[in-house]
Amino acid sequence: MSRADARLAEELARQAAAGRSRRRRTVEAREPGGVRVTVEGRECLSFCSNDYLGLADHPRIVAAFCAAARRWGVGSGASHLVSGHDAEHHALEEELAQFVARPRALLFSTGYMANLAVAAVLVGRGDRVLEDRLNHASLLDAGLGSGARFARFTHCDVAALRARLSKTGATARTLVMTDGVFSMDGDVAPLREVAAACRGTAAQLLVDDAHGFGVLGANGAGAVEEAGLDVDDVPILMCTLGKAAGTFGAFVAGSPTLIESLLQRARTYIYTTALPPAVAAATRESLRVMRDEPWRRSLVLEHAARFRAGLTDLGLASLPSRTPIQPVLVGADDAAVNVSNALFEQGFWVPAIRPPTVPAGTARLRVTFSASHTSTQVEQLLAALRALRTSGVLRQAASA
Ligand SMILES: *Cc1c(COP(=O)(O)O)cnc(C)c1O
Repeated sequence: MSRADARLAEELARQAAAGRSRRRRTVEAREPGGVRVTVEGRECLSFCSNDYLGLADHPRIVAAFCAAARRWGVGSGASHLVSGHDAEHHALEEELAQFVARPRALLFSTGYMANLAVAAVLVGRGDRVLEDRLNHASLLDAGLGSGARFARFTHCDVAALRARLSKTGATARTLVMTDGVFSMDGDVAPLREVAAACRGTAAQLLVDDAHGFGVLGANGAGAVEEAGLDVDDVPILMCTLGKAAGTFGAFVAGSPTLIESLLQRARTYIYTTALPPAVAAATRESLRVMRDEPWRRSLVLEHAARFRAGLTDLGLASLPSRTPIQPVLVGADDAAVNVSNALFEQGFWVPAIRPPTVPAGTARLRVTFSASHTSTQVEQLLAALRALRTSGVLRQAASA
């Protein structure tokens, strides 16, 4: 073993000893809707996808994808600013802007890259970034990587945010970033209050609505639509397309000047290959399906509410989430992994989420629902949790 590999092996061993090793499970087959899957030879019900509306294999979206691949090919061949910006990308950007009621939108290959882009273009050394403690890793990385002074405020604590904003005087070079729906907790940020706190100052607000887009709001435009906030309230809106939209990619929506600045200056936009145009075409169809089939939004939210009420009936604590993300706090890392493994043995695939993804001592099951689940499947999961609770495998730490 080379000396470099020996060092890496030592670090891996340390991670394993701490019970923090991560492991991928290979999905060998997926039935339509993506709920019944075969994983490592075992048939099970999946409760871990972010495909909240069950659109990832929707026949209309798959057909749009295939037709576009035949017409445009697979690869875009270049970055957007060279020759990779096709008519499908362009039309999608216009439709996305309209969907979220913003003047303009810019398509990115991933949400991670979109968040890096915003922070890099808006702030730098000498500026300030303020973030909710429980923000997604991509927002934290974006803030840290921007070179600006970085501070976190207590989760959803608008008073703490206001105090931070007033402490050193917020300028237009202060960037406030928050998840719309928190990815590991499922709760919705107090967006009206956060927006009001920022509007009282010159600070810019970015809302990352990766988990609200497609799910919340009268038209499925997300947590920001639900809160009734326009582009003046939330000048920078980032949404991803690989979750409820069922495809891949992300976009930032805002003023024409903001979007033009990202296009001109963001390195994670400029120096990367454009998404395959067929993915853009599929996403265009996905927006139409979201409009035509609003029952998907209602159904997934009904499943979440049913599950939450079921947890209470079992005497288990739930988190204050009304979204498809319904965590069951366990506490200790190994306890959460044990419950996840026991569920898997019974044919339920529910991941254990451990630090550093969540704060130490708050390891949990992250249950997610989809419009493809049936109410019977929700009941089956509750019954499995009931059995694990009775047998003592599932216990919640007092602090959790
Ligand atoms: C998934 C996610 C992202 C990253 O989006 P990708 O397109 O998967 O890179 C960003 N922010 C939040 C809150 C997310 O949940």
